[in-house]
Amino acid sequence: MKFNQLFTTALAVSLLVSCGTDKKQKSEDTKTETKEISMTEKETPFEYVVEQFADIKVLRYKIPGFDQLTLKEKKLVYYLTQAGLSGRDILWDQNYRHNLEIRKALENVYNEFKGDKNSEDFKKFTTYLKRVWFSNGIHHHYSNDKIKPEFSKEFLANALKDTKTELSKEAFEVIFNNKDTKKVNKKASVDNVLVSAVNLYGSDITNKDVDNFYKNVKKDPKQPIEVGLNSKLVKENGKLVEKVWKSGGLYGQAIDKIIFWLEKAKSVAENEKQAEVLGLLIDYYKTGSLETWDKYSIAWAKSTDGNIDWINGFIEVYNDPKGYRGSYESIVQIKDFDMSKKMKVVSDNAQWFEDNSSIDDKHKKKNVVGVSYKTVNVAGEAGDASPSTPIGVNLPNSNWIRQHHGSKSVSLGNIIDSYNNASGTDRLKEFANDEEEIELEEKYGALADKLHTALHEVVGHASGKINEGVGMPKETLKNYASTMEEGRADLVGLYYLYNPKLQELGLTDDWKKTGKTAYDGYIRNGLMTQLVRINLGDDIEEDHMVNRQWVSAWVFEQGKNDNVIEKLTRDGKTYYNITDYEKLHQLFGKLLKEAQRIKSEGDYKSAKELVETYGVKVDQKLHKEVLDRNSKFKSAPYSGFVNPVLEPVTDKDGNITDVKVKQPKSFDEQMKFYSKNYNFLPTKN
Ligand SMILES: [Zn+2]
Repeated sequence: MKFNQLFTTALAVSLLVSCGTDKKQKSEDTKTETKEISMTEKETPFEYVVEQFADIKVLRYKIPGFDQLTLKEKKLVYYLTQAGLSGRDILWDQNYRHNLEIRKALENVYNEFKGDKNSEDFKKFTTYLKRVWFSNGIHHHYSNDKIKPEFSKEFLANALKDTKTELSKEAFEVIFNNKDTKKVNKKASVDNVLVSAVNLYGSDITNKDVDNFYKNVKKDPKQPIEVGLNSKLVKENGKLVEKVWKSGGLYGQAIDKIIFWLEKAKSVAENEKQAEVLGLLIDYYKTGSLETWDKYSIAWAKSTDGNIDWINGFIEVYNDPKGYRGSYESIVQIKDFDMSKKMKVVSDNAQWFEDNSSIDDKHKKKNVVGVSYKTVNVAGEAGDASPSTPIGVNLPNSNWIRQHHGSKSVSLGNIIDSYNNASGTDRLKEFANDEEEIELEEKYGALADKLHTALHEVVGHASGKINEGVGMPKETLKNYASTMEEGRADLVGLYYLYNPKLQELGLTDDWKKTGKTAYDGYIRNGLMTQLVRINLGDDIEEDHMVNRQWVSAWVFEQGKNDNVIEKLTRDGKTYYNITDYEKLHQLFGKLLKEAQRIKSEGDYKSAKELVETYGVKVDQKLHKEVLDRNSKFKSAPYSGFVNPVLEPVTDKDGNITDVKVKQPKSFDEQMKFYSKNYNFLPTKN
């Protein structure tokens, strides 16, 4: 399972990863450019945005913590990323049978073109090629529609001739014609397998063929293997057969390279367990056995000790109209040392947070255990995870393995950071009340977000107990259970964000400034800026958005008499200004107590009243104003990433002595580099 990009604050995104998803969000929330707090960075500021074309924005990400790795760990990361990239062309071929041929031809034209590079046709050709690179094929990565070229057929025909580039007639025509228009077609009224362009089935295979074939495959009902996960189903001499993706099988040339790098990774594994896991993955790629894949998945789910982790294989089945076959992907991850340290401090002090909470003593846990939550940083992505990437992953997918052996859920911290940083400070400047608010956000915004996430996840969800005899919230609070739970966890975070304890624990150098920043940001978002994510006239529906509004609107109203939060209008624009942080802190505590009471007593009526009164309805006039103010910040709806380049430094005997991290200059440079260095498959497979 993967969680896709959302245009929200870091906080919102990380919470969504662990507490449910709202993948449909498209518009942008406000977020500030958050400077790294580290003072060691004196070079030119990091350029998060590489370039923009069509509906795409390409970004860069840093790899925090890479320098803290030992040489052995750096080698492990390097080998794993090489393994990942070695399978890149598998995904291209899985996506569509003409993809590799078309890419090769387009790249050759791009490199060898001698005509006018400033001509409209060539510019349009370049944009098309970039879109194809971004989507790992000629179908849009998100909509699945075939990408329409804006240059003429004649232009391409001439360019192919001038550059002596070969391209079959069928592949040439398909760029322009009306065939294979959808990569995956899941409509109910059509033969999905037959009409989907994706290359996971022979072109004459029908829905019925697939159903019949898998009806007869025997599997253990208690521990079912993921049938069809690593093969293409084709007809040979009238008989249905699976062409397995393995060494010596379909895609064997690329898989052998993956195995080569995995063997090297195994030789520098961090511990025995990890080496064993890599050994199982190698066996799986050698044999194609799905029983081995399950053994691997179990061992992988249980291997949690190292600083390095990875995802590599045929994993997600979204590209198969029938949901059997996995798209190739790889993500190499490094532990987020900074966030892990913060989480640990919070977790070690979970009982203090429980004891000192504003909730009723009878609702406090005597022995609270912090919830474990993991953020990692990405060191390299490939296949279906690149350039478009998830922001969080929860694997393995096999249900019985998840139930009996557990799973790993991570959010990709540096990817989320990069999304947020790339959006700049313009929105903040538009919606913040004054200079102080902007300055605080720039200096403490990232830290406040991280601490809120840590508190929300580690102590928020762990805190409090349900009265004896009262059912679980999903039974008692029903449709309000989720927004009540998220609001309650948010409130635990808010209550402690303005607290000297954070400084005492070494989590910030200034608890007041951190708290003020967190409160400003929460109120600004909860009362105004999150509204950019819904259409005028709509109610708020998504649980997290609902909870941010009921929390913010309740404290706003409760503090009215004391003017805790004042609502100002300047030049027809609305601003919220917090005048008394101490009183706001108390109000958050009061609401936390009430939210816990509702949960502990299973008080449906109060939950309903709180949510319906404060969380759902939107002030239409304010909403329109927010949308108008936001309309000048349009940016491309889809983003993705180039990967940092990991360059081994070797001594005269060829031994790796260090691994350097460099950033690619441009998107096309990286794409050309990958196509040149990791093309292990013929154009027809
Ligand atoms: Zn949560």
